[in-house]
Amino acid sequence: MSSRHRPFSPDPSQVALKPDISGNTINGLGETAPRRPRIVYWAQDPDTIAHGGMQRWFYEVDPNNPHLARAREERAKQLASPICDVSGEPVDRTPEQWNTAFAEFAEGGQFDMWGVARMDPSWVYEGQEVLQDYIIMLGFGHDYDQIATAPEATAGAEVVRQYGRAAAAAKSVSGWLRGQGWDAEPLTGPMTSKVMMIPPAIASGFGELGKHGSLINAEFGASFRLSAVLTNAPFLPTPPRAFQVESFCVNCRICENACPPEAISPLKQIVRGVEKWYVDFDRCLPFFNQTHGCAICISVCPWSRPGIGLNLAEKLARRTTRHDESGSHELT
Ligand code: SF4
Ligand code: SF4
Repeated sequence: MSSRHRPFSPDPSQVALKPDISGNTINGLGETAPRRPRIVYWAQDPDTIAHGGMQRWFYEVDPNNPHLARAREERAKQLASPICDVSGEPVDRTPEQWNTAFAEFAEGGQFDMWGVARMDPSWVYEGQEVLQDYIIMLGFGHDYDQIATAPEATAGAEVVRQYGRAAAAAKSVSGWLRGQGWDAEPLTGPMTSKVMMIPPAIASGFGELGKHGSLINAEFGASFRLSAVLTNAPFLPTPPRAFQVESFCVNCRICENACPPEAISPLKQIVRGVEKWYVDFDRCLPFFNQTHGCAICISVCPWSRPGIGLNLAEKLARRTTRHDESGSHELT
């Protein structure tokens, strides 16, 4: 079934801000050689990117909407709050002990998921530098009832609310590490402007990339946000997890059909030397901007519906086991 928001006509005042360069070109769509990513959107200083005018325009859409205004005010408070300095001798723990101590800290409920990856320079935006060896990823589940109202402002406000939680938690984790003598740097979305968030999240077990360009896991589907903390404290990297999202997306067309500007491609594409699901930036952005961050693709994804993801993952795992036990064609 196709989207009730089609056909979509972008607001002319937004169209007037469209730069000459395509966001897909900045992202490296069709480039066969690997290279580091370039910041295409959500720059801390919009004047430093081609789509900066459109980024500013995003905040001009219904700015006094009470849901959005309240969530933005709360997030701004979190962003402005200070973090303590590094103090004392660095606490000495083995990597396993760091993970155990952090798992205890996580019980405080400031975040819903966590994982750790060893930093990979290919995740760092061009012109930026990361000196720390580890990235701690934090995840924050949306309230599904709110995100299901997409593309209304209530869904956009829920996204901002989770980014507020994400900022508070990344700062709190940084403070926890600094209080134990280890420097730590919070990276809070969406304007992280230093490191791509999805690749380290995949590496540390947050899930797999879905056709809609967002991560998917069994617990939260695609309905969550991320923040991160960079540190040299020697954590034990947590392994990637696969839920068979890949094969599921090949046969599912729900987000493709639901996306008003038809930005979601049925086929994988080459981006900076890697074949992957890719959302057309130039098609998505005007609708995204005009609807406070859209989120339709996240909300309609079957994995995101409460109670569905875990069952789906179990069913797909059982199917694979049956297939494996029945023998593979390669062996005959
Ligand atoms: S809606 Fe379907 S195709 Fe799109 S990401 Fe979710 S599972 Fe994959
Ligand atoms: S966020 Fe972008 S890709 Fe997703 S449904 Fe909206 S317009 Fe389409």
